[in-house]
Amino acid sequence: MTYKKFFDDCKKCNKCRLRENATQVVPGDGNVKAKIMFIGEAPGENEDKEGVPFCGAAGKFLDELLTTIGVKRSEVYITNMVRCRPPGNRDPLDDEIQACKVWTNGLIKIINPKVFVLLGRFAMAKFFPNFKISKVHGKAYKKWGRIFVIQYHPAVALYNGSFRETLVNDMKVLRSILDGDKLVINNLDEKGKEIVKLLRKKRKGEQKEIQLKIGL
Ligand code: SF4
Repeated sequence: MTYKKFFDDCKKCNKCRLRENATQVVPGDGNVKAKIMFIGEAPGENEDKEGVPFCGAAGKFLDELLTTIGVKRSEVYITNMVRCRPPGNRDPLDDEIQACKVWTNGLIKIINPKVFVLLGRFAMAKFFPNFKISKVHGKAYKKWGRIFVIQYHPAVALYNGSFRETLVNDMKVLRSILDGDKLVINNLDEKGKEIVKLLRKKRKGEQKEIQLKIGL
């Protein structure tokens, strides 16, 4: 499927309740040949109006963060876990994220990025459901042959200025990876099977052991 067809189909989606109050669907934006894909949470007020992800205050800060590491927005692709604005900017619900997964996965297939930057806990949970963002932000993981960089969502710095510096520092990991520094990458591929098996075991007592094994 071409990107244009995918984009047009996505714009017509009304698979979940979020479409009822949203002005429009915001599929994603950026370079369709990008090697880096940023995944955030959900469109906010400005994004809902403009139809472009990360075009409000959090988006401006994301642009600033990219500038600090010499990456242009035109070099990356940006999308969210849900593509319609949740009412009052509330968190997206599980069933809404599930409903929108077809578009998230579709974009991943079309763009086929080598590096993902997961902005916030909702994007992180898609790939690493047992991780805690407070422990893994600013870290990079290799899994399924792709690299995942985990960061706080830029919006947190708008509510709490002390996160600004954290986000600036965490973004440097992406720069290191682009410069070919493999030492900053925690490789989950080697022990992936074992970890997946362990993560399937939901019993509480075993979670501690899992966290220790993957070095959290
Ligand atoms: S949030 Fe996603 S699944 Fe729900 S209506 Fe919008 S595009 Fe469709």
